Amino acid sequence: MPIKPENEALYPGGSIRSAEWREIRARIQQRAGNCCEGCGVGNGAIGGRARDGTFLPRLPLGDNGLRLVWPQPGETAWCSDGRRWEKLRIIRIVCTTAHLDHDPAHNDDDNLSFLCQRCHNRHDQTHRRANAVATRRARSAIGDLFEP
Ligand SMILES: [Zn+2]
Repeated sequence: MPIKPENEALYPGGSIRSAEWREIRARIQQRAGNCCEGCGVGNGAIGGRARDGTFLPRLPLGDNGLRLVWPQPGETAWCSDGRRWEKLRIIRIVCTTAHLDHDPAHNDDDNLSFLCQRCHNRHDQTHRRANAVATRRARSAIGDLFEP
């Protein structure tokens, strides 16, 4: 989920590109061992997500006589963790730093988590759902004011 401009200003240094925020991000990434703190998948890993959420690394397509040829993100290819094999859409795991309370100004380490797209999205979804309910309630309350 992209960061809204009005929220980006609340980040340390006023931007997600500021030196302050980059330093915090690097610290959290290091704490996490460069892996998602939700599901454990490695940042930058390439593979597919099975229906149950399990990440399976991509398998090489073959070789060109010199080196292995790997499927690229966006392609569909066989993936396996050595126990199960599935043909999946290939993605690259990109972990980002999430604010657990959704407040970009609250940057204590225990409020930050290094999460992959899937875990970050799931975390934000709960927040978005709560916001949507609040927005509908507010709209309906405004509607009540104008009822005859
Ligand atoms: Zn994850």
